Amino acid sequence: MHKTFGKLHVLVDLTQSTMSDVVYDVVVVGAGVEGSAAAYYLAKRGKKTLLLEQFPLPHSRGSSHGQSRITRKAYSQDFYTEMMHEATDIWRQLEKEAGWEVFRPTGYLAMGEHNGVFLQDNVSSLTRHGASFQYLPPLDFRRRYPMLAYPDNYAAIVDPDGGILRADKALLAYQGMFQKYGGRLIDGAKVTNIRRGNIVTLDTPNASYRGRSVIICPGPWASHILRPFGVKLPLKVVRICVLYWKERQPGSHGASKLPTFYEDNDGYPIYGLPSEEYPGHVKICLHLGPEMEAESRDQVDAKWVIDRMRNYVRDHFPGLEPAPSIVETCIYTNTPDCHPVIDYLPSSRNIVLGAGFSGHGFKLSPVVGKVLGQLACGETPSYGLTPFRIDRFPPQAGL
Ligand SMILES: Cc1cc2nc3c(=O)[nH]c(=O)nc-3n(C[C@H](O)[C@H](O)[C@H](O)COP(=O)(O)OP(=O)(O)OC[C@H]3O[C@@H](n4cnc5c(N)ncnc54)[C@H](O)[C@@H]3O)c2cc1C
Repeated sequence: MHKTFGKLHVLVDLTQSTMSDVVYDVVVVGAGVEGSAAAYYLAKRGKKTLLLEQFPLPHSRGSSHGQSRITRKAYSQDFYTEMMHEATDIWRQLEKEAGWEVFRPTGYLAMGEHNGVFLQDNVSSLTRHGASFQYLPPLDFRRRYPMLAYPDNYAAIVDPDGGILRADKALLAYQGMFQKYGGRLIDGAKVTNIRRGNIVTLDTPNASYRGRSVIICPGPWASHILRPFGVKLPLKVVRICVLYWKERQPGSHGASKLPTFYEDNDGYPIYGLPSEEYPGHVKICLHLGPEMEAESRDQVDAKWVIDRMRNYVRDHFPGLEPAPSIVETCIYTNTPDCHPVIDYLPSSRNIVLGAGFSGHGFKLSPVVGKVLGQLACGETPSYGLTPFRIDRFPPQAGL
């Protein structure tokens, strides 16, 4: 049975425990942004690809829902800046293919102590990779952004390639284009078992599917799907409060005046987006939250996050009401070093994992999808994947 959501056609699986004769080149598990990007990359290359998603689409239970994400080339680690060059090009290409806006260029502002390590590392990465940027010393920073109230020694970097990704529309674009290029998407199909072999078999409650390779992008459900493989990663699943703060004067923090932004904030990092996708409201969030299980996301108390953010907004954004008007919820899956795992599963050359994107994986998805796809096809990936190796974490006890 076919259902249509906007331009997205989803094949609903009503078969009874069937095993298809079809052997896919690649089966991708998880239609969040990373799995959808990998599926899009593979189908565009003409690979016979199946994308399986446990929930009916669209859904808001993982990490890829909502209307906005920040994109930027400014990173402290230059391997990300390198990846973001190509990612930025692919985002633009994807929106052309889809025919709707995915990327809204507003610029991005990295804020911190003048000449401090955070800003210096960003400057080094951007310089090494020839990316454009402007360094604003304290006086210039204060003059350019009078709606912000930071200490006198604060400076900023303006990254003109940064902006807002329209998250929901980006996901729809990946999945829609994937199907246009011949990919098959089945939602409401939870993968309950993966059987290794030269041909890998994936079981769902209604049917089994086969692929020469498999890519697993399970988001916060990683530990569930990895357990049968004897793989335990030190992942922390965290509840994130998505907070919208009302402008006292409408338009004072709009995208023409304020870019997307990030600040280290003494170990309590915050990020934000101008009033844009929710007119009259600025999105400002803590990049941390309480640990929890994806299955019981809203049972964990996040009051301390909101209390901390009220104080933050009162102190640094005097033009906003210091109580959030809207509170939404999303999930991070964090690794100890905040870099994802992009690698084969141990003792496997045809099962690839992309997990632990630690709250910054959306913007990277075009290149993450590409390298996951390259690994699944047994090719040398276009980027060095040493920072993302699975064996950087010692084996964990207690499966
Ligand atoms: C509030 C918030 C703000 C963020 N801001 C930014 C930002 O500004 N910039 C940025 O770059 N990134 C940002 N991120 C991070 C980014 O959104 C995530 O890194 C990214 O969405 C992770 O995608 P994913 O595909 O790994 O996980 P998910 O989106 O969770 O997708 C995993 C999918 O796998 C499915 N699945 C799991 N198990 C199975 C199974 N057994 N069978 C079938 N399907 C299965 C799940 O249902 C889910 O759909 C933010 C995240 C949040 C929560």
